[in-house]
Amino acid sequence: MHKRMFILILTSIILGVACGIVCPQEVLAIRWVGTVFINLLKLISLPLIFCALVSAVTSMGNMKRLGPIGIYTVGYVLLSVSIAVLIGLVLLNVFQPGQGVPSSFIFANATPADLTPLEFSSFLLKLFPSNIIEAAAKFEIMTIVLFSIVFAIACLSAGETAKPVIELFTGLRNVFVKMIIWLMYLTPFGLFSLLGAAVAEASLQNRLLESVGGMLFFILIFLGGLLFQVLWQLLLVQWVIKKSSRQFLSSASNAMLVAFATSSSMATLPVTLIVAKEQEVSDEVARFVLPLATTINLAGTAMYEAVSALFFCQILGMHLSILSQVGVFLTAIVAGMGATGIPEGGLVTMIMVLRSVNVPTSAIALLLPFDRILDRFRTMTNVWGDLVCAVTVDHLAKFNNSKQANRSLLSELSESTSVSR
Ligand code: ASP
Repeated sequence: MHKRMFILILTSIILGVACGIVCPQEVLAIRWVGTVFINLLKLISLPLIFCALVSAVTSMGNMKRLGPIGIYTVGYVLLSVSIAVLIGLVLLNVFQPGQGVPSSFIFANATPADLTPLEFSSFLLKLFPSNIIEAAAKFEIMTIVLFSIVFAIACLSAGETAKPVIELFTGLRNVFVKMIIWLMYLTPFGLFSLLGAAVAEASLQNRLLESVGGMLFFILIFLGGLLFQVLWQLLLVQWVIKKSSRQFLSSASNAMLVAFATSSSMATLPVTLIVAKEQEVSDEVARFVLPLATTINLAGTAMYEAVSALFFCQILGMHLSILSQVGVFLTAIVAGMGATGIPEGGLVTMIMVLRSVNVPTSAIALLLPFDRILDRFRTMTNVWGDLVCAVTVDHLAKFNNSKQANRSLLSELSESTSVSR
């Protein structure tokens, strides 16, 4: 199925581009097919984001019971996801790949309702509505994100009685993940229509080459960003954890190849666990840290969401102030932590980041042709990050244990010397 899907997607890309150039008017006439695809993505995204965030935050809370191991893991994840997003934002600000790409590329599939301008004060007001159902109906994703995080924290502090609620939302998350997987089978049709319409608009304006050049430049910058993310973690392994980076790379490469092949950090988990064992990560740490990291440590995905949002803003000529970029930074962190480690799981949470800067969600169409391959690279980065997280937490836990052992040895010694006196 995987291979057949790949061929279908490739065919739809080729057909979309060809038809967009040869018969633009006809392709524009059927752009509703792409709109239906985006609508379905949006339809599932809201409940999925809610359930995924509730289950991610509550699983973090459970880890707290593990004491230092849970705290080190969550600390590491926050650090690595933040660094990933920061790298992406810096690269996008420096290279500005969206400059010069015609905005018709995005507007080709946008509905006018998508394009209301963003104001920070109204954004804040929307965060705290009086009616959560109304906010959901208006697709105020950030409001739903905030609500789900507070809801999850309340579930945790309610204790035992809230356990069934947590289980319900975790189960619902799995159901919505299944629906997203089904929706992905429709990608070739959505892609044909969305890409065809974007190419048709650009070719009607004779700006096709400019658009393709801008996209390729953006992709190169993103891949460079992922490389930086892998590199700083490699330096951490070598200098702080004092492991041979060559040996670490060679055993991690097994998991990364599986990640590349499956585009899913969840599906790669069994191999990630084996690599952690090879790296002498203790069973206790590996068994708790890796499943948690696979759920919340999607740094490559978070970077992708941030750079895409900024790229689209550049295309649309929207200047983002520092404050708005901080907003993108925070939203992308939540999006990366709330995304699911399945093929193209990041597409769903990307809607959330785009909404935070009022970019039309249909802009995702620009990335769809490249998303399959980019997904493989961000999954590799995510799995790499999970492994580094496991060895770092293991290192800190062992360091902690040896410090405690030293302390008790010292107190035993001082007790015995005072007794002998
Ligand atoms: N496929 C990615 C993963 O499994 C998620 C994504 O970025 O779409 O880690």
